[in-house]
Amino acid sequence: MLFSDVIGHNKIKSILTRSVRDSRIGHAYLFEGPEGVGKLSLARAFAQMIVCENFQTDDSCGVCASCSRAASQNHPDVTIVTNQFYDASKKSSDILVDTIRSMKSDVYIKPFLGERKIYIIPKADTMNVSAQNSLLKVLEEPPEYCTIILLAENREAFLPTILSRVSAFKFFALTDDEVEKYLAENFEETDPSQRRLLAKMSGGSIKKAIELLENPESRQLREDFFDCIFSIPGGSRKTIYDFSLFIKQNKDEFEFLINILQSIFCDALHILQTQNAESISNTDKKVKIQKLSDSVDTKNILKALEAILKANDYFSKNIGVGTISQCLGLELWEAINDRSYRSKV
Ligand SMILES: [Zn+2]
Repeated sequence: MLFSDVIGHNKIKSILTRSVRDSRIGHAYLFEGPEGVGKLSLARAFAQMIVCENFQTDDSCGVCASCSRAASQNHPDVTIVTNQFYDASKKSSDILVDTIRSMKSDVYIKPFLGERKIYIIPKADTMNVSAQNSLLKVLEEPPEYCTIILLAENREAFLPTILSRVSAFKFFALTDDEVEKYLAENFEETDPSQRRLLAKMSGGSIKKAIELLENPESRQLREDFFDCIFSIPGGSRKTIYDFSLFIKQNKDEFEFLINILQSIFCDALHILQTQNAESISNTDKKVKIQKLSDSVDTKNILKALEAILKANDYFSKNIGVGTISQCLGLELWEAINDRSYRSKV
């Protein structure tokens, strides 16, 4: 995988490229950020750049034997560390202490082909304290040829002693344009309006966009949630209960659902402000969103968006989804059905 194949994250790419160009590659990195934004892809592209036999000043060559091996995940000096890589019988997806021990016994064997060995550890934030302490010993005295890249969604999960020994890079959600570009390049057969919709729905995660494209369950979840939301305007208070229950029952998809909710009200606001429903993100729900925007005032929408942002904030503070969904349901209902704002009704 080339750097140029990885969408977005240009600043991180340029720092990493410079480190290869100046032969100042670090011993330990932390790539921290949401799932599906390209941390693993970038780590793999970085590893390929390090082992490339013909580095091209800003990317690996993509054609040398080392590049080909790295691209096909068949390079002996580039390891993606999983429990199953060292022991196929292991079932856990959390990185286990045994796995780190196996990795360590390999770390001290010199590179097979080139000058460096690279270990990429996905889900590194699932390591427990024992696993982290085991890893710490390598980070404290890494062999000069060794580079370890930890991939994680949450840096809080790491011991301070680990964090003090890594160069940390923060990955942010991709922009809608970046996700759309990825879909256009990799799923050419899809319709441009579908790509735009998927990009909006993905919340900046390529993984989520692909899941939505390929997985009917995700699409159905979106359909069902739309029904739930559109029963709120003018609906009885029971709609609050149904809405809250729906979110609670799908709590693993909370961020996805919140993205949908936010996109609906942003679309409604867009229609209210521009009187144009053509450029909204939920193009397939144009009629329903138009109807919503016809029945409310800008202030209703802003109040609803405020409630959604607050729910997102509570979620990031680890407040239970049950509590959040109840408050959100009530506040949304009140925001949308508050007639005191409406001069036109
Ligand atoms: Zn190469």
